[in-house]
Amino acid sequence: MAAYIEPAPIKDVKNPFESMMSRFSVAAQILGLEEEIYNVLKSPTKQVSVHLPVTMDDGSLKVFEGHRVVHSSILGPSKGGVRFDPGVNIDEVKALAAWMTWKCAVVDIPYGGAKGGVKCNPREMSSGEVERLVRAYTAAMLDVFGPDRDIPAPDMGTGPREMAWMMDQYSRAQGMTVNAVVTGKPLVLGGSLGRVAATGRGVMVSALAAMEKLNMVPTKATCVVQGFGNVGANAALLLSERGVTVKGISDISGTYWNDNGIDILDAIKYKDSNSQSLEGYSNAEYSPDRDLLVADVDVLVPAAKEDVITIDNADKIKAKLIVEGANGPTSADADAKIHEKGITVVPDILANAGGVSVSYFEWVQNRLGYKWSAERVQRRSDRIMKEAFDRVYHKSIEHKASLRIAAYIVAIKKVADTFRLRGSF
Ligand code: GLU
Repeated sequence: MAAYIEPAPIKDVKNPFESMMSRFSVAAQILGLEEEIYNVLKSPTKQVSVHLPVTMDDGSLKVFEGHRVVHSSILGPSKGGVRFDPGVNIDEVKALAAWMTWKCAVVDIPYGGAKGGVKCNPREMSSGEVERLVRAYTAAMLDVFGPDRDIPAPDMGTGPREMAWMMDQYSRAQGMTVNAVVTGKPLVLGGSLGRVAATGRGVMVSALAAMEKLNMVPTKATCVVQGFGNVGANAALLLSERGVTVKGISDISGTYWNDNGIDILDAIKYKDSNSQSLEGYSNAEYSPDRDLLVADVDVLVPAAKEDVITIDNADKIKAKLIVEGANGPTSADADAKIHEKGITVVPDILANAGGVSVSYFEWVQNRLGYKWSAERVQRRSDRIMKEAFDRVYHKSIEHKASLRIAAYIVAIKKVADTFRLRGSF
């Protein structure tokens, strides 16, 4: 990969929003972005916070805090998932919303960026409680959402089931079925073939593209995947199908290791039969506290959550390539150390953009009233990912910048150029 310039170590980064802003500022500087436009893009367009009273199964009333942040609608309707997680807070949602703007711009789809979140623990809630919470959240966001305005999708803690309820609640209020208001729906409700595996598939495509540049042969390469949710499990499966030896996987129950490679399909089957947890999986060596992030392998795929790679553990990373399946897994203060060690990073806003790309296809199909084959969805999303990788790679050479900064440069330039064309008050 190209020799690159990384900014001076970014210190005192307190949350994902500051991590996002610090990379954004570096890219804006390299790009020579006018201060006026920098100011437009640095803050979200809209921020809505709500408190949602929901009746629990035991009859008690619980109040949940929810947010929807629209970072930008410059490229089109804003797009982004809704996260159900105990750690949800407004700074996190703001960062995730901005990342969606950059992500959609990097893969060149006509969307702005948004994100939603509800502070809750869906693992401890019944299906009925989750349904009432989803409906309450959707009802509170009726003025924000819309197929031409703001289009939610799944994220951590939500999936097709929640998207079905969201679509239904929105549709009830409109008096007609509006399936294009939400993506990531179940197939029968207008979901797209290929959507469930789409993010993991994009991780695989961008990992292979980076491996090629690094002269790594997939069949000789080793890998670990931290996080075994939708993104991690599909990325691990698709990488192993391409011949990569996935030595380790992990989830909150611990780490599972096999020097000769884990049978990923077997692990996924186990997880599906065990309430989405790897707990008790016995076809690999179990360790409650082995740290996959510092494992001695070629490729590291962090696919869990933000800020797991930090200044405190960056020094110990042995992988030559990091492919960010999660949003924001590397905090900005670790960038310089990772560079110093010669590690290549395929950044989140590129690596995990396969999900939103297929969300876009789902929305297109809903609006056409038509269904594409799985083969067509995969072919088109693979092409989007490959073209985006090449675009970012060439920018990184042009500006002697890391792939991460190059991805921000591509994205900011696109949004800024569009803003100038659209004009302002
Ligand atoms: N939550 C996913 C992401 O972070 C998907 C968003 C979408 O499909 O709109 O990229």
